[in-house]
Amino acid sequence: VLQKGLKENFADAEVSVVDCPDLTKEPFHFPAKGICGKPRIADVGGVPYLIPVAQTEKVYDLNTVAKEIELPGAFILGAGAASSKILGVNAELIAIVQSKSEKKPAVNGSYIAQINPADKGCLLEKYSSKYNDCEFGLLANLYASEGQPGKVIEVKANGRTGELNFVTCLRQTLEKHYGEKPVGMGGTFIIQKGKAKIHIMPTEFSACPLNTDEDVNNWLKFFEMKAPLICQTVFVSRDPGFDLRVEHTHCFSHHGEGGHYHQDTSPDSVQYLGYLLPAEQLFRIDRPQETHLVGRD
Ligand SMILES: [Zn+2]
Repeated sequence: VLQKGLKENFADAEVSVVDCPDLTKEPFHFPAKGICGKPRIADVGGVPYLIPVAQTEKVYDLNTVAKEIELPGAFILGAGAASSKILGVNAELIAIVQSKSEKKPAVNGSYIAQINPADKGCLLEKYSSKYNDCEFGLLANLYASEGQPGKVIEVKANGRTGELNFVTCLRQTLEKHYGEKPVGMGGTFIIQKGKAKIHIMPTEFSACPLNTDEDVNNWLKFFEMKAPLICQTVFVSRDPGFDLRVEHTHCFSHHGEGGHYHQDTSPDSVQYLGYLLPAEQLFRIDRPQETHLVGRD
């Protein structure tokens, strides 16, 4: 199903079931070997806590989320906002955390991407180089598992011929095939070649309310970043009415770039390689009471 969908948007696409590569190795360096074992998705908070006006009191803890999704000690990957209470500024969180269990303390392999006050460029840092908690703020889209090795879906796509980004193409393919039935997936993929359009939120929350997508896009800082970019993704084919963000992807690199993935900007040369699994359960945590559809891209 996925391979057929990808071929409508990419020159080459191949989908197969393989053993998950050891994610503690290059280029991932994750705190867990794999993404297998009780795969779950959590959608925490939401964009309505960021815009029109940021509700900075909204902070969460990945160790608590792991308990709430009934998987204490879970290995969690995903995309969210950093806790502005901890950082003192607003930033993108590239979440990669082995949450704490009865036997072991948490290992936080996350990255944070923020606007560098010195040159307005991207400042990507390992979270653990400055902080030793597992907090985040406002919103996050998370894929959780036991972090075990095992069989995963390997997705390769090269040379983009259509308009859709890699994640939207996978998501819409699932939606077309499964229709009403929501199917959620998560995992990691590498943009191996090419460049990508990435945003980073400014360090300061907007002083004036952001009421439209145009307001949001004027507030966000957009960059073109170079491969290799290692992307953590969560997507759900359709929202069954839980006010979900249906796709969200954050990336890091080993050359100082990272943030929120929109699209590759080098369709001819782009190469994607991903390892994904469908989730068995989805948890909606602290769903906003008042909602809107602005800023979901
Ligand atoms: Zn994001």
